[in-house]
Amino acid sequence: MAEKKKASLGLKLAYAALFLLILAAAVLGIHVSNLNAQVQYVNSLTPTPVPDYPPNMMQVTPDPSVTRAPILKTGSRGDAVKQLQLRLKELGYLPGAADGQFGPATETAVILFQQQHGLTPDGKAGPATTELLYSSAAKPFTPTPTPAPTPTPSAAPTDALSDTERLQLRLKELGYYTGAVDGSYGPATKAAVRSFQQAHGLAADGIAGSKTNAVLYSSAAKPFTTPAPGSEPWVRADGLPLLVNAANHLPSGYQTADLVMMRTYCDSSIVTIKGSEIQGERVAVDALMAMLRAAHQDGLTIWQVSAGHRSVAYQQQLFDDQVYAYRQDGMTRTQAEAKTRQTVADPGASEHHTGLAFDITVPGQQFSNTKQSQWLAQHCWEYGFIIRYPIDKVNITGISYEPWHIRYVGVEHSIRMRDEGLCLEEYIEKYGN
Ligand SMILES: [Zn+2]
Repeated sequence: MAEKKKASLGLKLAYAALFLLILAAAVLGIHVSNLNAQVQYVNSLTPTPVPDYPPNMMQVTPDPSVTRAPILKTGSRGDAVKQLQLRLKELGYLPGAADGQFGPATETAVILFQQQHGLTPDGKAGPATTELLYSSAAKPFTPTPTPAPTPTPSAAPTDALSDTERLQLRLKELGYYTGAVDGSYGPATKAAVRSFQQAHGLAADGIAGSKTNAVLYSSAAKPFTTPAPGSEPWVRADGLPLLVNAANHLPSGYQTADLVMMRTYCDSSIVTIKGSEIQGERVAVDALMAMLRAAHQDGLTIWQVSAGHRSVAYQQQLFDDQVYAYRQDGMTRTQAEAKTRQTVADPGASEHHTGLAFDITVPGQQFSNTKQSQWLAQHCWEYGFIIRYPIDKVNITGISYEPWHIRYVGVEHSIRMRDEGLCLEEYIEKYGN
């Protein structure tokens, strides 16, 4: 009897111990899964309150399905970048489209966010920036009316200067402005601001607004550099050449300067505009009209423009329509896209995005067989245009001969390209830095 009682007590103790163990495991389990949820939630990049745990706790839970988000920086692309851009847009830091490509505009938006939140403004979305960005502590962009000038060894006492003088001084210091610091916001100052904005992916309106100033007077302001080919295909602020091809997509934040509706803008006795929607940049359209007037004087009177400026969205539509047509023919998506790329540029890769390219045709005729084609090849250079895809440069441009596609680069460049026999890729490689 006593033996039995003893045994039953032992059993009870064992059960109690087991119960405590299970309880402990359950509590721990809940804690671990809660932590996992928190980690996952950071990775899912949704705007919700910040989890308050020390960062190194993330490493305590070795869960292979939970990988830390990579640092997003210039050159990154994909859905994570798109989400980042959407969040930056939501908070008012990023203008333009969330295209999933981390370019200068995204970098600038990240810098602005970092500055406003006391983070190191390095323009990279690392863990600290990302965590704050998606937390409820993320503040929307608020303009800072008069940014404090950064102390520079060269600068005169800046508090005696007007805003415009200070702006000119700062732009000069960075190499964007070469004129006099006279306090007058003239075309040279405006061009310098535009150039600075372009280099930082800001809307290039030439107005030193709050966003521009926030970057301009920060340590994140980059000095002026003439872009190297392949890296930053901008040459526009100072001279026209700008490289847009399969390897150099239109820079994010690119803005056409001054588009005109060609049907209403152009003299219809000189040229027919095929589509009512066709637009071009004023500077290029003016040069085109001067050129075609000269052609008329040479006796060639029938000219048509069948393409001008195209937005990236429109190019996407052209691309998608062609893919759809091939898929209707029974191709797989991969096949259809590959086939489409033979004739339609990827969105972002078309020269027509620049607003400086036109397709010239003669109604009802194969253009390469026309006198107009010959005249264009001979004279377009004198008016600042180039035959963008010459017959002997196919291996460099990657585009088959297109005698009808002309591109405005400005007369000093077009003449040099003609004289040296260079296509745009070669020209920018030679003179682009
Ligand atoms: Zn074209």
